[in-house]
Parts: sequence; C-alpha cells; structure tokens
Amino acid sequence: MRVTVDQDVCCGSGMCVLTAPDIFTQRDTDGIVELRTDTVPPSHEDQVREAALLCPSGAITTH
Ligand code: SF4
Repeated sequence: MRVTVDQDVCCGSGMCVLTAPDIFTQRDTDGIVELRTDTVPPSHEDQVREAALLCPSGAITTH
C-alpha cells in the first residue's frame, strides 16, 4: 500500500504520528506532517488506514 499526505491542509494535530509513528512524523518547525516512507509495509497497513480515518483534516490518502 502507498500513502500520500497533503501538507497544505494538515493542521499539525499529530494524530497520525500517535497512530503510526513508523510512517508519519512532524516537521520540527511547525508540526506539519511528513512521511518517513510512502510505501507502507503490510504490517503497518491497518495503522495507516486508522490514521487516515482519524486525521481531522483529511490530509492522509491511501492508495
Ligand atoms: S493527523 Fe492529519 S492534521 Fe494531524 S498531523 Fe497528521 S496529517 Fe496533519
């Protein structure tokens, strides 16, 4: 599975980092989401789907 994030709509809530810390991180300067990887291993797919559901900005898309 692949994942993309829209940094223009991210509000920096950090829910994704709490849910899937191996995949998401936050920029030091302003807390906006960054990807550690855009290729999600099968072991982390459920975490990433949950992060997409929990994101208050709808900034996370899975493919
Ligand atoms: S959960 Fe959504 S809004 Fe919050 S930091 Fe992650 S991508 Fe940004």
